[in-house]
Amino acid sequence: MPAPASMPDWYQKGLPHIWLPYSQMQSAPPPLAAQSTQGSHLTLTDGRTLVDGVAAWWTACHGYNHPHIRQAVARQLEVMPHVMFGGMVHEPALRLASRLCALLPGDLERVFFTDSGSVAVEVAMKMAIQYRLNKGERQRTKMLAFHGGYHGDTLATMAICDPEEGMHHLYGPALTEHVIAPLPVDVASTQAFLSLLASHAHELAGIIMEPLVQGAGGMLFHTPEVLRTVRAAADRYDTLLILDEIFTGFGRTGTMFACEQAGITPDIITLSKALTGGTMALAATIARKHVFDAFLSDNPEHALMHGPTFMANPLACACANASLDLFEAEPRLEQVATISARMSTWLEPCRSLPGVRDVRTLGAIGVVELDRIANPDALRQQLVAHGAWIRPFRNIVYLTPAFTISEHDLAFLCRTIHTVLGNQA
Ligand SMILES: *Cc1c(COP(=O)(O)O)cnc(C)c1O
Repeated sequence: MPAPASMPDWYQKGLPHIWLPYSQMQSAPPPLAAQSTQGSHLTLTDGRTLVDGVAAWWTACHGYNHPHIRQAVARQLEVMPHVMFGGMVHEPALRLASRLCALLPGDLERVFFTDSGSVAVEVAMKMAIQYRLNKGERQRTKMLAFHGGYHGDTLATMAICDPEEGMHHLYGPALTEHVIAPLPVDVASTQAFLSLLASHAHELAGIIMEPLVQGAGGMLFHTPEVLRTVRAAADRYDTLLILDEIFTGFGRTGTMFACEQAGITPDIITLSKALTGGTMALAATIARKHVFDAFLSDNPEHALMHGPTFMANPLACACANASLDLFEAEPRLEQVATISARMSTWLEPCRSLPGVRDVRTLGAIGVVELDRIANPDALRQQLVAHGAWIRPFRNIVYLTPAFTISEHDLAFLCRTIHTVLGNQA
């Protein structure tokens, strides 16, 4: 991956020392160099501006550099950038905790802060396992997860991702074995799911799933009915239900949280990605009352044994509070509905292109699924050459724009996908 000679000095010097994510660095094209951001636009060091269809891995839901979030960080930076969260709390974290619990359904009422989605899922797994341990049940340490699922990149979370298709199948021998079931989307898969659940219930701490959309698994959608089936099955076999709303949370599927569309409440929920409006790293694991209550005892070992150094970082919590202000002050869910309608109309022409298998939209997620993408890097470069920042993966080209994207920019992104896929054919 040699640096092009036209790139700035810091790029030439630094690139040989950077290890990029999910990238075969022998053959991947050199990365673009971002200079600045604004709204739905990314400006590169060479002066080009791209329209962003990804919103920084699904995080920047208000667009980049929103003044309200910038002001909140600046104010917090003056007062207290960080303080440890052991034996000490602060206003940004406690305000955020109470606001999240007020937004979430049911008695999801205890928030544990971490700094990444993967760790939030690990904490959810630890909560579910220790919930059983604290009740003296030492056998219930496994998770039931679903084919097509994605829950993170750390060792524990890789083990609950899709075992075959997931990008982590190659670590197989190093991973803990869990129960991986088909999503109960029809009669046969529901039977298979229920029989796996019945035979493993005695060793399960919980069931974990992404509600309505399996994101990194390929933007696969399922109905709210599937969620209700899983909730009912978890109740029947007395196992905790963890919903991973790291991608779906904060309006992406059309409601503030995806679980609202099924009218169900999980026992534990994980949030991250859009939590701070795409500004700072922050994640949260939120438990219902009965889960938290299982940690209350005279035994110090019944306490939750976890505590990241930077947990509840005040700057990140200030961003998240400012992001929630924007959801209150500006019509974000209406914007999602408008984006949804526009994408389903404007991506529809892709359906008749050769090699296109499906076109689908849910909330502010628009997907064009192909039979296969031979070279995602090359496809990305063609999209960039047209002025669009879109990152195809597996066999899909997708849009998850900021909820504030203009009609003009969204039309451009949809048109560009059609043009570039049309040129492939
Ligand atoms: C992105 C994601 C994660 C992992 O979050 P990181 O912050 O990348 O560790 C976990 N679950 C889901 C559903 C995600 O989309």
